[in-house]
Amino acid sequence: MLADLAALRAADLPVHGGRTLAYVYDSGLGAETAALAEAAYASVAGVNGLDMTAFPSVVALENEVVGTTARLLGGTADTVGTVTSGGTESVLLAVLTAREHARATRSVTNPQLVLPVTAHAAFHKAAHLFGLETVALPVDGRTFTPDPAAVAAALGERTALVVASAPSYAHGVVDPVAEIAGLAAGRGVLCHVDACIGGWLLPYARRLPEAAPVADFDLSVPGVTSLSVDLHKYAYTPKGASVLLFRDAELRRHGYFACAAWPGYPVVNATLQGTKSAGPLAAAWAVLRHIGDAGYEELARRTVRTARALRVGVDAIPGLRVLGDPPGSLLAVASDDAKLDVFVLADCLRAHGWYVQPQPGYAGLPRTVHLTVTAAADGKAPELLAALASAAAEARTLGPAVADGQLVEAAALVDPAALGAADSAALLDLAGIGAGGSLPERMAPVLALLEQLPTALAERLLPDVIGGLFRPAAEIRATRQAAPRGGSGGHTAQS
Ligand SMILES: *Cc1c(COP(=O)(O)O)cnc(C)c1O
Repeated sequence: MLADLAALRAADLPVHGGRTLAYVYDSGLGAETAALAEAAYASVAGVNGLDMTAFPSVVALENEVVGTTARLLGGTADTVGTVTSGGTESVLLAVLTAREHARATRSVTNPQLVLPVTAHAAFHKAAHLFGLETVALPVDGRTFTPDPAAVAAALGERTALVVASAPSYAHGVVDPVAEIAGLAAGRGVLCHVDACIGGWLLPYARRLPEAAPVADFDLSVPGVTSLSVDLHKYAYTPKGASVLLFRDAELRRHGYFACAAWPGYPVVNATLQGTKSAGPLAAAWAVLRHIGDAGYEELARRTVRTARALRVGVDAIPGLRVLGDPPGSLLAVASDDAKLDVFVLADCLRAHGWYVQPQPGYAGLPRTVHLTVTAAADGKAPELLAALASAAAEARTLGPAVADGQLVEAAALVDPAALGAADSAALLDLAGIGAGGSLPERMAPVLALLEQLPTALAERLLPDVIGGLFRPAAEIRATRQAAPRGGSGGHTAQS
């Protein structure tokens, strides 16, 4: 079975080695660190964090992890936190807590969530799940950050929470946190800093004389009331660990869920999960101790110098440029040559053994490819830049991916809400994504079309694309053939 598992993994992108520039985070520290994390994980995989009275180890581990996090990110003696399963869950809980806080303290019954368009999609998920209205603010076309004056204008009686990113995922730039948090405080509104991706890198990067300066963005900034930081990103812990910090326990309690209205055990959940493995928490605890403060500073040094080398190198490739002024480890690369399409570039680069992530244009912002640089990429910038230059030449020869004009025109007339399963399948067929249970090798044409579709239609079709992958029909048929009438005896199977 382990061999089968390894065979299934063969088509996956590598999670180690620094050649996958999204989704995975590799410290490059090697087998010893990985083995420690895996052993810590496995040793408590069966421990249930649902009931901290039954498993007090969970409380001890969580208090140490949250304490370390709060110290790194401007916490005070009042700071508290919660370990969650990831950035999305941290964001969901931050928004839920703010909604409940606004209802309890300001009687807000139709809450709004104010956020720059560059805020992570997890905030839209939170608004969708918890019934908030989003107020999305544009960002500057050069800095990719919002104008504080626009934030000021958007804040009102109904605002439950305003969001700032440190940095944003798509462009890697840090929003003006002090200005936004100050405005929020002035209106008596909560302010969340999404440091999911940057929270474990920027504090160390700021210590390095060679790194670009970064303005204060953490809980030490007046007006910042909560902050999320993913351990499974730049703390290089196994997946399933993030920390949500709150200004104080009085704020956090609004996000706790308690239930005494059933005949089972009394429930108090700090997170969205019920039963939860202590594995990710214990692994994070072990990795944080193992790498330590000096270790993370060294990893930040490797990461930042690699990102900087890539930025300089990308800007030197004709037609390509890095957007904005990202101080850390994330780069958004755009093209200013109509013949060079970054979606095609991403497909070509993949053939060279490097994965960069295509990001469709939105709200007037150009399409880009995203690079998450981790410490494991240290020393590999020349190789990646050479591959990028080759891929850029190939992409120019292939020409840009353009959406079928007729299809785009037809799509504009479709009412997504009225689109049935058969219509959706027909549209996806036309777009070259049949329901064959697999995705095309080259994604550029698909992404170019997606970018042109009205948002609501794209959001109607995407679940059908992914839903088409997750269909165990073949497995169910195979089981039926083995036992056609569901009987247990050999006779039934033979008949
Ligand atoms: C990764 C990320 C998230 C979501 O985190 P997951 O761990 O993927 O759920 C939220 N915000 C930002 C800025 C991120 O980079």
